[in-house]
Amino acid sequence: MKSKNTFFLIIIFALTACSSSVPSTPPPVTAKIEQTASSVPSTETPIPPTETPLPAPTEVPLERAQYTIYASLDYAGKIVEVEEKIIYPNKSGESLNDLLLAVEPNFWANGFLLHELSVGGASANYSLEGQRMTIPLNTPLEPNQKIEINIKYTLNLPFAVQGDPTTQRARIYGYTNRQVNLTNWYPFVVPRKNGAWQLPNPWHFGEHLVYDTADYKVNFTVNDEAVVVAASANAESTDQGQAYTLKSGRAFVLSASPDYKVLSQQVGDVTVYSYYYPLFDTPAQEVLNVSVRALQLFSQIYGEYPHKSLTAVQGDFNDGMEYSGFYFQSNGFYNTYDGTAQNYLTFVSAHEVAHQWFFESVANDQANEPWLDEMTATYSERLYYENYHPESLDWWWQVRMFDYNPNTWLDMAVSENPSERAYWSSTYFHGAHFLEELRARIGDEAFFAFLLDYRARLADKITTGDDFFSILREHTDVDFSDITVRYFREPR
Ligand SMILES: [Zn+2]
Repeated sequence: MKSKNTFFLIIIFALTACSSSVPSTPPPVTAKIEQTASSVPSTETPIPPTETPLPAPTEVPLERAQYTIYASLDYAGKIVEVEEKIIYPNKSGESLNDLLLAVEPNFWANGFLLHELSVGGASANYSLEGQRMTIPLNTPLEPNQKIEINIKYTLNLPFAVQGDPTTQRARIYGYTNRQVNLTNWYPFVVPRKNGAWQLPNPWHFGEHLVYDTADYKVNFTVNDEAVVVAASANAESTDQGQAYTLKSGRAFVLSASPDYKVLSQQVGDVTVYSYYYPLFDTPAQEVLNVSVRALQLFSQIYGEYPHKSLTAVQGDFNDGMEYSGFYFQSNGFYNTYDGTAQNYLTFVSAHEVAHQWFFESVANDQANEPWLDEMTATYSERLYYENYHPESLDWWWQVRMFDYNPNTWLDMAVSENPSERAYWSSTYFHGAHFLEELRARIGDEAFFAFLLDYRARLADKITTGDDFFSILREHTDVDFSDITVRYFREPR
């Protein structure tokens, strides 16, 4: 069991590793905040006055926050200059005296250099400690009012040594010798729940962030034309680099490498991409195939896919990781792919695609109720084999659950698990067994009707265990209490 001190040692290690690569003077900012319409000279003919004045435009209240981000990556220097505008609507129903933003790059010393911060057009005070940036508001933000936050900053990306298990987490954000990954890279306002901001602390393993949905407009430039960029949305080329638009997403990510090759396939109005390194064409094709088939299958089972692109990227770290319209697949699984469906590459790809419904569309508190998305994503692997490779289903149960220990609880926080393996067992494997028993008890008709309805009603929201069970009970009168007693610590 790793102690909490290990975590800080990991952070310190990452700092030590990255500090030597940070130039003392950041390059000049090339990004510019979007011009407002009023500052653009009009070439239109003026409209003559009419007798009845036009009604004042009625403003449509914002459903969710709007992020406009201009970022320029110095690929060789591993530095990103960013100008970010957030329009945050207060949907909490309470009067807010402050805002809390998650600033994950600040986990690394000199990783986040703030140049300017303004709120409502005026320079703002703030405190920044670890991942927590608190901005006190001079005037409370009332329910359904919105506020504009402008932030200008430099990211000094951390480096992680390839193959060093102590820096696996660090490696997703930052760079390796052939990849830059921008994950959780911009400050974002965290969700409100029961009168408090939701920003749990990270643990040695698992995820810890909770995300509201937001709309993103991201403009991204790289100072090296050879660099290929993968992102959470389809790219549009502009004279200012690549522009991306993502509606109602949780976490906009980018991955860049001069070595990437890409395969793609159209599925209806969704483009599926598989980015990979040279010599990995065969496993990259499998990642594309599984992504396409999983997208089709899960759209049938859980309802419409929420975005217009789905991107898989060969990551320089162990295990897959999901983001908006995007997932990293472990480099190690490309190495061990043998051309059959009986592979980690196959089932982990199906797993990560399922997170687009459970994580991305229906979010949850990943630190305190991780079972809600991991259970469903793991069971989705079973559904993938059941539909496409039924002859390999027994193989999947055996290989996937090889160290499954049923003497545990499903409803545990990530940090309650003594090890990452114990976390997988209690959350992923126990979860899949629970859904298997539940399905057998209530029958396929009720089980799949529940999953479809659960996703539809909690799309764009943050679910809880209470939501899960209250919707489940609307779909069946069958008593399953003896099952929940064995899987859940809290009465369900
Ligand atoms: Zn997962």
